[in-house]
Amino acid sequence: MKVAVFSTKSYDRTFLTAANADKHELVFFEPRLNLETSVLTAGFPAVCVFVNDSLDAKTLRAIAQNGVRLLALRSAGFNHVDLAAARDLDLTLVRVPAYSPYAVAEHAVAMILSLNRNIHRAYNRVREGNFALDGLLGFDLHGKTVGIVGTGKIGALTAKILHGFGCRLLGYDVSPNPDCLALGMEYVALAQLLGNSDIVSLHCPLIPETYHLIGAEAIGQMKLGMMLINTSRGQLIDTKAVTKGLKSGRIGYLGLDVYEQETDLFFEDLSNQVIQDDVFVRLLTFPNVLITGHQAFFTEEALQNIAETTIGNITDFERGRTCPNQIDLRKVQK
Ligand code: NAD
Repeated sequence: MKVAVFSTKSYDRTFLTAANADKHELVFFEPRLNLETSVLTAGFPAVCVFVNDSLDAKTLRAIAQNGVRLLALRSAGFNHVDLAAARDLDLTLVRVPAYSPYAVAEHAVAMILSLNRNIHRAYNRVREGNFALDGLLGFDLHGKTVGIVGTGKIGALTAKILHGFGCRLLGYDVSPNPDCLALGMEYVALAQLLGNSDIVSLHCPLIPETYHLIGAEAIGQMKLGMMLINTSRGQLIDTKAVTKGLKSGRIGYLGLDVYEQETDLFFEDLSNQVIQDDVFVRLLTFPNVLITGHQAFFTEEALQNIAETTIGNITDFERGRTCPNQIDLRKVQK
């Protein structure tokens, strides 16, 4: 099948080409898919996209008119797709529900450890011959309370790793996970989790109910000086409210792998440009903020799984087989 693959970097080409083994005709495009670039999809029955491609109703209509029938997402999340429009256009949507929950959980823990022990600051100091310890004081993770918001695949693994450090675990989820209960996690209301956790790590999906889950009200409920980690989706956090929380000291540490307006920034080298996003630039000025550019998923194992599952999904569609990774658009509300 002829597939237009958007938002491709060298690593995407490498892993997809290896997994494809000439099964499909993959044509790699560097730009993101949006209304402007949708013209490139002419003649392709399938397109393959990543998290920051724009899949709004207008773009979906344009690609459907070009003959696209399959949208293969190289991601688990599908919050960036207008599902109602996809359903109305009779598009088939497939995704990669799990590629390496370990990758994201381990990155969340890496952020916790780096922020706590100030590794990001110590690295620069030592390179400049500054071996002073002032300002680098950390705390023992052992015995601290960690609140996990969303205890699915990634949240549960994060909990398991932190359990190994001797942390007490609180959880908030619409449905408790037996693996987390087995670790001794106590499920509580969100306000109670925020009020009692030294560290809060977000692992729930971005859906209308979780948009700005961490806003002014939630920040007001947090333990003073707590650490907030978000490796899930940027819009779970109201960034302006979090900036205020950092300034007041309510939030003592912030680790972000995702950012509300990341579409304009992440995955590109902007080091020669003036960044226009003042909210983002303000975050960079805090010594207790650590930001990575949506790289939590970025391990060899994850890229291999993403590529293999994506190629498998496309093959299922081409052969008319039931694909276990198809998003059921019949469930989307009118
Ligand atoms: P999952 O579906 O296994 O788990 C999500 C959990 O959130 C479930 O237990 C679900 O019940 C819970 N949930 C749903 N609605 C909720 C609500 N309103 N409040 C609290 N909890 C709620 O998903 P996962 O594989 O663990 O992935 C979690 C998230 O991680 C994804 O949605 C995605 O946004 C993000 N992610 C980020 C990266 C990255 O590179 N940074 C990579 C992969 C996934």
